[in-house]
Amino acid sequence: MIDTSKIHDLDIREALEFYGVEFKHNGFARCPFHSEKTASFNTDEKKNLYFCFGCGAGGDLISFVRQMYGLTFAQACNKIDNDFMLGLTSRKLTYAEQKQIADERKITESMRAWRAEEKAKIDKLIDRRRKIFKISIQNGDRYQSLVDKLDYEIDLRLSRIETI
Ligand SMILES: [Zn+2]
Repeated sequence: MIDTSKIHDLDIREALEFYGVEFKHNGFARCPFHSEKTASFNTDEKKNLYFCFGCGAGGDLISFVRQMYGLTFAQACNKIDNDFMLGLTSRKLTYAEQKQIADERKITESMRAWRAEEKAKIDKLIDRRRKIFKISIQNGDRYQSLVDKLDYEIDLRLSRIETI
């Protein structure tokens, strides 16, 4: 049996950030387990648990990793052990396991970079929309179609970020 106390000592928010959850200033994040525009995923750092008001997902770090990567309890403990170098298991990882972990990490990192890039683009679009919307109000509805077009593009990009 794995001693899970070291896992439960990890800061859940930092650990979830490592696994790609992006918390906003208000403490909420977009739930990785369901598609949503309004962030309703949060953590309770005293109890070291996460929960989602949107879909009801919740639990500790082990259940997060199980759900996120489709692992058994033991596999999830192993993954966390390796990801945070807790030294819980004495068994050396096979080459294939090491490679899988490295690959997953690479994918997570590139996803994070891609998301950040997309977000920057969306922010620019929103900024542009705001400016054009102002002009549109001053000039009747002459620029409404342009605003609609930007709305469409913003929605499209947002949904792409959320579904992946
Ligand atoms: Zn959710």
